[in-house]
Amino acid sequence: MSTRPLLNRSLAGMGTTIFAEMSALATATGSINLGQGFPDTDGPREVAEAAARAVLDGRGNQYPPGPGVPELRAAITEHQQRFYGLTYDPDTEVLVTAGATEAIAAALLALLEPGDEVIAFEPFYDSYAACIAMAGARRVPLTLRAPAFRPDLDELRALITPRTRLLLVNTPHNPTGTVLTPEELAAVAELAVEHDLLVVTDEVYEHLVFAGAHHPLAALPGMRERTVAISSAGKTFSFTGWKVGWVTGTPDLVAAVRTAKQYLTYVSAGPFQYAVAEALRLPDGYYADFRADLHRKRDLLVDGLTAAGFRAFAPQGTYFVTTDITPLGEKDGLEFCRSLPERCGVVAIPNAVFYDDTEAGRSQVRFAFCKKVEVLEEAVSRLHALRTG
Ligand code: PMP
Ligand code: GLN
Repeated sequence: MSTRPLLNRSLAGMGTTIFAEMSALATATGSINLGQGFPDTDGPREVAEAAARAVLDGRGNQYPPGPGVPELRAAITEHQQRFYGLTYDPDTEVLVTAGATEAIAAALLALLEPGDEVIAFEPFYDSYAACIAMAGARRVPLTLRAPAFRPDLDELRALITPRTRLLLVNTPHNPTGTVLTPEELAAVAELAVEHDLLVVTDEVYEHLVFAGAHHPLAALPGMRERTVAISSAGKTFSFTGWKVGWVTGTPDLVAAVRTAKQYLTYVSAGPFQYAVAEALRLPDGYYADFRADLHRKRDLLVDGLTAAGFRAFAPQGTYFVTTDITPLGEKDGLEFCRSLPERCGVVAIPNAVFYDDTEAGRSQVRFAFCKKVEVLEEAVSRLHALRTG
């Protein structure tokens, strides 16, 4: 057998994702899982019924069209119009993907050449690093630093080189909860236009903004023609297992992403697409209630973690709260998260794994609050034991 490593070098060291590792630890120890971001209750019953109906009626059980079923593409364009006033053509400017994860992979594989540089906020969502590496490109982090986790726009300007091809912008941002302000978005857009950069936006938490509002970068002057916008049904409708995501952009951008997507999954899960089309058309009340519910849970967890001795950074968006464990006399988030299940039966995620500059995130730990109130309360009461026990 050759001694050459089996794993392609671009993936070397990427091993098992932290989400899989920590969820397995939660299952093995019977801990409360506030690690991986998935809700512990399913989304609306009528949306689940729409999926079941589609299966039973034989809609989407055979390969659906590559760009996505027309019903869903139409619903995506209606959603972009209704919430942001953005107009897209459902036939040429929308692509349905296997979750935002595939959209990110297909976009980066389609748009990057080896040697290109991609600027993204760190801490990075983990698939960014892997997909940039698989495309042979280089990630260039713009570090969001505690306690405010704002992007330093002068630093962003300084990071742009002739090799910079693309800005990868995640707002609301996982794991810090930062939501870019209109001024920050305008500055990012100006730099993108000035340097003629492509922009990929990850907007999967678009409906989870508690302070301010979500503004798509594609709506800013000069941005529509250079932006691939990505979102997904997983977070907004609490069906993370369905893996229905989408891309919107100009026909050229969408065609490029579709070319890569064809050879990743060819098409995405058929019946769920019909159900997500119905979900996107839910009345405004659904979206408002969803946000209000998570807002209450955010406050519950932020207050609970603070009372338990953590320094909690209240997120402006997403369903995650980043904390600092230093006040507990702890230094290393990874060690802390690996021992937490045994110490008190709770699982969390160490932010350090999302940083190249691991020191910047070493003492940060992320907790998810997309869980039932009683689960969050029980987790908080267990975490209190860290100080008293
Ligand atoms: N981007 C971010 C920032 C995320 O947190 C997630 C996790 N859901 C994804 C992308 C992937 O989304 P999906 O489950 O739709 O693939
Ligand atoms: N996006 C989810 C999180 O940040 C996890 C999704 C995944 O496991 N890939 O926790």
